[in-house]
Amino acid sequence: MITRRDVMELGAGAALTLSAGGVLHAQPGSARSVGYAVVGLGKLSLGQILPALKATKNAHLAALVSGKPEKARKVAAQYGLPESAIYTYENFDSIAKNPAIQVVYVVLPNAMHADFTIRAFKAGKHVLCEKPMAVSLEECERMIAAGKAAKRQLMIAYRCQYEPVNVTAMQMMRKGAVGTPRLVNAVMGKQTDLSDPSDVWRLDRTMSGGGALADMGIYGINATRYLLAEEPVDVRGWARTDKSDPRFRTVDDMVAWQMRFPSGAIGEGSSCFSQPGTMAWQVVGSERRMVADPACFYGGNGIRILGGKNDPQPQIAEIDQFGNEMNWFADVIHGRAPNVSPGEEGLQDMRIMHAIMQSLAQGGQTVAIESSYRRAYDPATAVGIRTAV
Ligand code: NDP
Repeated sequence: MITRRDVMELGAGAALTLSAGGVLHAQPGSARSVGYAVVGLGKLSLGQILPALKATKNAHLAALVSGKPEKARKVAAQYGLPESAIYTYENFDSIAKNPAIQVVYVVLPNAMHADFTIRAFKAGKHVLCEKPMAVSLEECERMIAAGKAAKRQLMIAYRCQYEPVNVTAMQMMRKGAVGTPRLVNAVMGKQTDLSDPSDVWRLDRTMSGGGALADMGIYGINATRYLLAEEPVDVRGWARTDKSDPRFRTVDDMVAWQMRFPSGAIGEGSSCFSQPGTMAWQVVGSERRMVADPACFYGGNGIRILGGKNDPQPQIAEIDQFGNEMNWFADVIHGRAPNVSPGEEGLQDMRIMHAIMQSLAQGGQTVAIESSYRRAYDPATAVGIRTAV
């Protein structure tokens, strides 16, 4: 049973720095700053990543990679970068000669992740790669192998695994906050619009690897796994798609799934590209429910504990999630923090999503997850709650 003291300790937003199993993570600040090359100047880079890099202590912007020279020049000027720090997709490999770049942050459409990750490793750089890791299992395996061959780190940008609300939720789950977990329900979706270039590739199967499931369902699958701290044994899925809607020529709209876990818990969820923006999950346990809605937005996330009497409710301080994640990876590179979301973690979600897609193709049949994957580090213990980046 979780106590008021546990909640105060875990959720009060104090500068709580946990270590477990001998794993100590770095304190923010103080270290040599790591230079990032940001590849792809789209919505996420311009709206979140570049502003976060400006405000982050252990990481800074060292280069831009873009297919649009005019935009790149404008952004470089805005962030005080010289023109010599601008690269194109064609001359990207010459980053090998630029020692100011230690990390390549791949923020491109999903079908381009593998190519740029592998090229970055060949150039001797570490890679932070956006989710989903790639569009096929084979690509994920090649990315992992390339990182190992280059002796460089590969981290998949699962920001929620480093974010205080989700980390607190994991810590509370490990302390039995809901009793025995029975069900995790995750609902992820948004409205898509073909007039938005950022949605055009998301609605193209070749570029995205699978529409709403690959883009947003992955948050629900990943959250279910980190909340329960176990891996599913099998899955099944169903899709509902209006094929007369021009948005859904090559991808499904709504995909719903169920996963069975060894403990007996069931994970269910849905992803949808024709609903209001939603990123929510709830855990139903034998004694209580834990509800996070929103759970994975860039801000405003929170947890409520329902079902008990006068349960204390965690108050969790917000943090710049992107700055926090880039700081974390800087610490990984300096050997002061564990790589909590390496390529193998990205590959596991890809396996599950592929099994869901296989189930869709087989009319909802149950598909086994053929994997012995176990996390090297549980974010609940390996990741501390930081209040500043
Ligand atoms: P955008 O479409 O807004 O940006 C992608 C950028 O990639 C473009 O602006 C462009 O940059 C470059 N690009 C190169 N080739 C192409 C192409 N053929 N079609 C389209 N773009 C191309 O996407 P987002 O920024 O929203 O997403 C990028 C990645 O980040 C995706 O993997 C996505 O899943 C992930 N993401 C993660 C989030 C998170 O919270 N972790 C949130 C949102 C997205 P340029 O013009 O400079 O060449």
